[in-house]
Amino acid sequence: MQSYPLDSLSARTTITNRIRMTKEELRRAITRIDGRGYKAYKAIKGSYDFGLYTLIIDHVQGDPFAAPSRVRVRLPIERTAFPPDLWDNKVRQIAFCDYLARGFHGAIRRWTKGNRGMGTSGLVDIDRGGQEILERNAVVIDREDLEARFVMGLPAAGRTILGKEALGIFFEEIPHIIEGSLLYRSIDQQEIRRHVDVAEDQEVMRGLLVERGLVAFVADGSVLPRRSGVDDRPLGPEGSGAVPFQGPREFEVELELPHHGRIQGMGVPAGVTLIVGGGFHGKSTLLVAIERGVYNHIPGDGREYVVSNQAAVKIRAEDGRRIEKVNISPFINNLPLGKDTTRFSTDNASGSTSQATNIMEALEIGAQVLLIDEDTSATNFMVRDERMQELVAKAKEPITPFVDKVKKLFADQGVSTILVMGGSGDYFNVADTVIMMDNYQPRCVTEQASEIARKHATCRVDEGGDAFGEVTPRHPLRGGFDPSRGKREVNIDAKGLRTILYGITNIDLSYLEQLVDKGQTRAIGLMIHYYAERYLETSPSLKEGVELVMRAVQEKGFDCLLPYKVGNLAMPRPFEVAGAINRMRTLQVK
Ligand code: ADP
Ligand code: MG
Repeated sequence: MQSYPLDSLSARTTITNRIRMTKEELRRAITRIDGRGYKAYKAIKGSYDFGLYTLIIDHVQGDPFAAPSRVRVRLPIERTAFPPDLWDNKVRQIAFCDYLARGFHGAIRRWTKGNRGMGTSGLVDIDRGGQEILERNAVVIDREDLEARFVMGLPAAGRTILGKEALGIFFEEIPHIIEGSLLYRSIDQQEIRRHVDVAEDQEVMRGLLVERGLVAFVADGSVLPRRSGVDDRPLGPEGSGAVPFQGPREFEVELELPHHGRIQGMGVPAGVTLIVGGGFHGKSTLLVAIERGVYNHIPGDGREYVVSNQAAVKIRAEDGRRIEKVNISPFINNLPLGKDTTRFSTDNASGSTSQATNIMEALEIGAQVLLIDEDTSATNFMVRDERMQELVAKAKEPITPFVDKVKKLFADQGVSTILVMGGSGDYFNVADTVIMMDNYQPRCVTEQASEIARKHATCRVDEGGDAFGEVTPRHPLRGGFDPSRGKREVNIDAKGLRTILYGITNIDLSYLEQLVDKGQTRAIGLMIHYYAERYLETSPSLKEGVELVMRAVQEKGFDCLLPYKVGNLAMPRPFEVAGAINRMRTLQVK
C-alpha cells in the first residue's frame, strides 16, 4: 500500500510554511468541496491546529486509486507525558518510536471504519516493523515534537468527493488514534518500558560480545524456529511449538545486562565454528537466528536475547548474478583462456564464482563474520576432497575451496566464520569450535571432531597457499548510475522486499538474506541515489562512500534523502546498501 514512486519531485514538495490554519478552516474547506471532483481535495493541503496536535497534509493524492495521501501529526513531546528516560539515548529512542508506530497501527485497527468509498477511500495506515526493531521514520522525535507520519485515502465515490466521510476521518478517527496511541496515559506503560529496555539490553549484549571474544550469543530459553518461511513470528502460539534453546556447558557464557540482569547462554567464540548434525535437527534454524542477531528483536519474538556481531554477513551462492571487476583471486585462479580473476566480471556468474564474489564484496565493506549454510552453497566452492585432488590436478582446477581459506581468513584478516556443514568432515581439520545440533539442542563436539580428524588423517593437500590473499577496494563510476526513466529525472521505487526499481533497471535483492524490512529496501534505493549524487566522485572507494551515506542519514535523518517527507523508510546496514549497488546490472567500476 505504501509505495510512492519518487517521481515529479517538484510537484510533491512538503509543506514548509509556518502558516497554521484552524481545524474549523479544515472543516469548512471539506464541507465546501463535498460532492465536487476529486481534484478539489488539493485545497486541503496545509497545516491545521487541532489543539493537542498539529495536523499536516503534505500530499494529496490525484485520485482515489493513486498512492494514498501523506499526512503528519505533530505534538510537543512534553504534552504526551512520556517519561524522558524512554528516549534518552539512541537505541532507546529507536525502540520508543518503534513502539509508538506499532501502537498507532493498533489504534488505526481499533478506531477506523476502513472502507469509505472507492480505491483507497477511508484507508489510514502507518508503516511499522515486523519482528525487528529498526530505526524508521514512521514516528520520529524532531526537536521538541513527536511526529507520526501516515497515509490516508481521501474518500470518494467514483471521482466525487465524499466530504462527510472525510470529516469522519479527520474529526473522529484521527483524534481517537492519536489520543489512544501517542499519550502516555492511554497506553500500556509497562509494555513500552519493556520494549525499550529489551532493545537496549540487546545493544549492550552486542558490545559485550566484542569484549568477550565472541561473535554470537544465544540465550538459554530462546525460541529459534519460525512459523514458516513467510511468517517470521515464533513457531506455535507464543513459541509453544518449539523446543527452547539450551546451550551446552562447554560454551556457557554469562552476561550482565542493564535491565534483564544476568543472562546465560551459548557464546560462539571468534574463529572457525562448524555447526554439524543430521538433517532436520535445527542447524539452519540456529544459523538464521544468528543472521538476524544483527538486529534487535521485539519482546516475545523468542530471539530477543540472540545477538551477533553487527558486521556478520550471510554468504551464499547466487548463480546468474552480475559481477563487476571483483578481485576473487583468493578463491579463483587460472581460468581457461587466461581470464583475469583479480578484476573479474561476468553477466552470469556460476555458483562458485558468485559465492566467492559475495565473500570478497562483504570483506570489502568490512565484514567481521561470515555466515554460511551448506544448503545454499556451491559444493565445489566448499570442498575438494583427497580423491578429487588426485584425479584433477590443482593446475587444472581454478577453484581453491573455502576449506583451504577459512583459517587463513581468520589469521590474516581476523574474520570469523560460522558454517553449517553436515556433509564434509574435511572441515574438522580447520575448525576451532564444533557444535552439534541434536534434536534441536546444541552439544559441544569439538574434542571428538579433532580426535576423528587425527584418527582418519586425510592425505588431502592444503591448496590455499600461505595467506588468504588481497581484498581490493573498488571505485564505482558515475556512468553506472542513471535513475531517470522517460521524462522522469529520478525514478526510484521499491517493489516489495526484494526488488528496487532504479531508473529503467531492476535490482534483484533476493539473495541479500539479511534484508528484513520493505522500509530498508526503499531506503536503499534512495541511498544509492544519494551516494551517486554526493559521494561517488569524492570518496576514495565504495566502502567509504557507503559509510558517508550511512553517516549522513544517521545524522540528518531520513529526510535528507528526499525533497519531501515520507514515513515509510527503515535503516539498512552498509552491507545491504553496498550489496544492492554490487547487484546493479549497470554498475561500472574503475
Ligand atoms: P537442518 O538445517 O538441521 O536440516 P532445520 O534448521 O531446517 O534443520 O530445521 C528442521 C525443522 O525443524 C524446521 O521445520 C524447523 O522449523 C524445525 N525446528 C528447528 N528448531 C526447532 C526447535 N528448537 N523446536 C521445534 N522445531 C524446530
Ligand atoms: Mg539446513
